[in-house]
Amino acid sequence: MENKVFVFGHKNPDTDSICSSMVHEILDKKNGWETKAVRLGNINKETQYVLDYLKIEAPELIEKVEEGQEVLLVDHNEFSQSVDGIEKAKILGVTDHHKIANFETSEPLYYTAKPYGCTATILYEEFKALGHTIERKEAILMASAIISDTLLLKSPTTTQKDKKALEELETIAGINVNEYGLEMLKAGTDLDDFTEEELINIDSKVFEKENIKYEIAQVNTVSIEDVLKREEKLKEVINKTIEEKGLSLFVLAITDILNSNSEIIALGEKTDVIKVAFNKELENDKALLEGVVSRKKQLLPNIDKNI
Ligand code: MG
Ligand code: MG
Ligand code: MG
Repeated sequence: MENKVFVFGHKNPDTDSICSSMVHEILDKKNGWETKAVRLGNINKETQYVLDYLKIEAPELIEKVEEGQEVLLVDHNEFSQSVDGIEKAKILGVTDHHKIANFETSEPLYYTAKPYGCTATILYEEFKALGHTIERKEAILMASAIISDTLLLKSPTTTQKDKKALEELETIAGINVNEYGLEMLKAGTDLDDFTEEELINIDSKVFEKENIKYEIAQVNTVSIEDVLKREEKLKEVINKTIEEKGLSLFVLAITDILNSNSEIIALGEKTDVIKVAFNKELENDKALLEGVVSRKKQLLPNIDKNI
């Protein structure tokens, strides 16, 4: 087993989870600490765009951690979204921008939680606080993460801190954020060579409340209609997932990144929740949620409250 401390984001990693792990490693090095960014799943096409742009390799994939492995978590805290074996790992620190749930440690740790739009914005502030220079590589990694999590600052999760960080990172990175960002986001909407099973796993998270388990998956698109051509197949694999994981509800949000709406497909025994949560009747297991683009701020809290 490697001695290094592992830094990783959540399973089904998104751009923030990958880029923030890499930036964390860079920041640690500047602080004289050897850590190693790793990942818990496949690189999605949006993140691949970033890595290709920078001509760098993705962090190494790990499937589980051994007992006592020292780890740093970014972009998540819930064990249900973390690495297999997390319960017996030694969590040294967490840098995150999500609600805290299903999380506990037996020892003290560093825990930085800020309600920003992106983990990378928190890391950006750490660079500042520690007086470290931000170089082009980490500027592009952080800018990409912010663009991804805030959908180019259009998501309701966006804060002034994210805006300010992205503004400065744009200058250091030497990119035009709007052009680069749109290309990056569009790269992530190319779903053609994903099977339906893969599609619902690109960006999916399992949540637990008391004994109820539910999952919210999200895909970005420039055409909801296009994704819905696969509706029947998608429903089939969602129902299979519900059965396999013992879920009470599965919500797939198909998010139109240009118009900022989401069509959801909801299945499971607790689909009643959708009506209460969004005041929308499901038709054919679907509903269009206007102005809804954020799982964290819009989908999750409303579902969680009512489940
Ligand atoms: Mg994330
Ligand atoms: Mg994030
Ligand atoms: Mg996300």
